[in-house]
Amino acid sequence: MIVYIDMDDVLCDFSGASKRELERNPSIKFPQSQYGFFANLSPLIGAIEAVNALLASEQYEPYILTAPSVKNPLCYTEKRVWVGNHLGMEMVNRLIISPNKSLLKGEFLIDDNITGRCQSEFEGELLHFGSNKYPDWNAVRAYFQV
Ligand SMILES: [Mg+2]
Repeated sequence: MIVYIDMDDVLCDFSGASKRELERNPSIKFPQSQYGFFANLSPLIGAIEAVNALLASEQYEPYILTAPSVKNPLCYTEKRVWVGNHLGMEMVNRLIISPNKSLLKGEFLIDDNITGRCQSEFEGELLHFGSNKYPDWNAVRAYFQV
């Protein structure tokens, strides 16, 4: 079964970094527009272990499905760099960058947003990461039993 996994605020701490940068440099209103922002995000707790557990399972085929920050051209490269640094080549080969997540075929989508990138129109089951039902990676892993 195919499992798509979002990056920002699911695998990487986008909000934490954004908040820190806004405090450090309030004149830059959109820290995600800055080169280096995406490559240097910290992984969220349990995220790397969870992707590796899904990869190791017989049942699931994890892919990363992230939407681009189109005003920052380097984000396309930096997302690839981040996946290489934190997850390795196997997941680099499973990195999909798409502005419309409903176009991909599969059983599951793990995302912290349910709208904006057509997440709700995804044909499979949407696991709303950060919600009461799936607050963190422990909850997601318990659901998938990996
Ligand atoms: Mg996200």
